[in-house]
Amino acid sequence: MLTWFSRHVFFPLWEIKDGAHRAKYLHELSINQWLDSESLRRRQWDCVREIVGYAFDHCSYYRARLAAEGFDGVLRGWDDFRRLPILRKSDIRQNGNGLLSREFKQKDLVEAKTGGSTGVALQLYFDSTCQEMRNAAAMRSDQWAGWDIGMAVAAIWGNPPVADTLKKKIRNLLLDRTIYLDTMQINEDSVHRFFRDWQRTKPRVIFGHSHSIYILANYLQRLGLEAIRPCGIISTSMMLLEPERRLIEEVFHCPVTNRYGCEEVGLIACECERHEGLHLNMDHVVVEFLKEDGTEAVPGEEANIVVTDLINRGMPLIRYQIGDMGVPSDRSCSCGRGLPLMERVTGRQADFLKRPDGSLVAGVSLIERTLTAIPGIEQMQLVQDELHHVCAKVVRDSHHFSKDSELKLRNELQTVFGKDVVIEIQYVPALGQTRMGKYRFAICNV
Ligand SMILES: [Zn+2]
Repeated sequence: MLTWFSRHVFFPLWEIKDGAHRAKYLHELSINQWLDSESLRRRQWDCVREIVGYAFDHCSYYRARLAAEGFDGVLRGWDDFRRLPILRKSDIRQNGNGLLSREFKQKDLVEAKTGGSTGVALQLYFDSTCQEMRNAAAMRSDQWAGWDIGMAVAAIWGNPPVADTLKKKIRNLLLDRTIYLDTMQINEDSVHRFFRDWQRTKPRVIFGHSHSIYILANYLQRLGLEAIRPCGIISTSMMLLEPERRLIEEVFHCPVTNRYGCEEVGLIACECERHEGLHLNMDHVVVEFLKEDGTEAVPGEEANIVVTDLINRGMPLIRYQIGDMGVPSDRSCSCGRGLPLMERVTGRQADFLKRPDGSLVAGVSLIERTLTAIPGIEQMQLVQDELHHVCAKVVRDSHHFSKDSELKLRNELQTVFGKDVVIEIQYVPALGQTRMGKYRFAICNV
């Protein structure tokens, strides 16, 4: 009953109060997803031409940089687009205000900062239309996972917002309808409290950082509190490890929807209800997969993810190299949506560890493999502070971890990194989190 009211009464009223158009954007996106890929590609091309021309006309940074490359502000085809220079985090840091559009006053833009867990914090700005369109895109992908406007949800992450004003309390009661589990303080008491909140509010969907949902699933299983049956689970903001996905799905009897995005451009890709890969949010973002030499990767090949934001005029990001690696796909999804797929996200460049010979080790894939192969390792993080020293921080599952597990782990790491690297294994009660409550599985400080 409350869900119906929230969806059909409170949500539209709140939109009017905020002067927002999310419902309209969501409606458009819901229709677009069923267009064929050719039509979507044509629409995307119109947006690309527009945003690149806009950035050239309104942002001093793009004007100077693109003009220096001989560009006159008009794209004539995708080849022209692919010749535009790559924008790196360091470019944003050094030219912050030059990327802002003259059309907006800085105070009218929404400000955000990236977490900076890779050592590079960025100051970002979005115009308000972009903000609403991004919200709508997230809502469309939430719907693929089983969510709908007005549904009660459970959010599992660090430092959840506190409804400290009356307005926020009313909004949460009538509209957002969210219960929280703060993963900065996850323990038996907080999990019991969460379980009671769940029984009282009966949320339908769980949102959260994948590793935090995994830790919750572990607790629930251990405490025998398994009567939590959501209709959807949305894993965001972090790599979803396969072994963790399996446990989450087993405990909640519900598939996990893997979603990929970043603070800089919002939603990039998300699985639909078929879970056959991640649909690219091509209405709002151009996603390229580029190899180190700048050429395009073929389907199945791991490469740098480079994105162009089609909707943020406040601070356009054109051919921005996020620092994540992923794998493009040429498969189409059996759901029939025209939005193309990517295979998977494979991690951040900062997650790659180094061998003494200079070659790289994909930290997250290594951990994924280890968790699957060696019994009794509940969680693991690899930290490399020196080229010849790798520390594995391990949370043990006391029932299944044995001397043999330790031996296998040591052998595996020694084989991967080579005999000249000292492997240290530390047993810890829990993995450390970032300030935002996320986890990093592999940290290379070399
Ligand atoms: Zn699909």
